[in-house]
Amino acid sequence: MRVLVVEDERDLARALAEGIRRDGYAVDVAFTGGEALDKLSGAPYDIVCLDLNLPDIDGREVCRRIQADTLRVDDSDVPRVLMLTARDSLADRVAGLDDGADDYLVKPFDLAELLARLRALSRRRSNHTGALVEVGPLSLDPRRKEVVAAGEMIDLTAREFALLRYFMLHPGEVLAAERLLDHVWDENIDPFTNTVRVTISKLRKKLAEAGQPQMIETVVGSGYRLVA
Ligand code: CA
Repeated sequence: MRVLVVEDERDLARALAEGIRRDGYAVDVAFTGGEALDKLSGAPYDIVCLDLNLPDIDGREVCRRIQADTLRVDDSDVPRVLMLTARDSLADRVAGLDDGADDYLVKPFDLAELLARLRALSRRRSNHTGALVEVGPLSLDPRRKEVVAAGEMIDLTAREFALLRYFMLHPGEVLAAERLLDHVWDENIDPFTNTVRVTISKLRKKLAEAGQPQMIETVVGSGYRLVA
């Protein structure tokens, strides 16, 4: 899952990005509405944490443009929007939701609450309703960052965890390396490295060690698939 944090208070933006990243997401940051629109037109984000009060283009306007066709990078879904607002009036919250926001948080808020909202939005985005994601013998707990395969805990790095979560949210689908790069890594990755291949190979090794070999198939010329 890839998240864009749009927040003009730079210290807050960086703190949010760091916290969200630690929770296993790929995170990019935009400090203005214009920068947000640029990034949104360049990468397929899953969730946008959007501050309402921005110095240039208002958060509500950014939200409206996210819903419009013009910003769509490819045929992937419209990102979920979590509106961050200091405005506590009912009218503002209603207006934000009318503009297409999926949820909102009133500042100041706890990072723990933001992370809980993100988990809820991730589940909604992938039509998962329970807290656990389960595919075959694998069970993934996004809150505790744990993966269990047939009763055995698998120790994964943050990136391996994020990659496996993305696979588990799209079981049986062939996922191209570019798509994995777009949703599991942030913009700081060099797209010409073989990081996807290397991370998949490490993940496969750990799955095999836990008695689950061949769960991630290579589909020659197309990408990778988690056996459903
Ligand atoms: Ca602001």
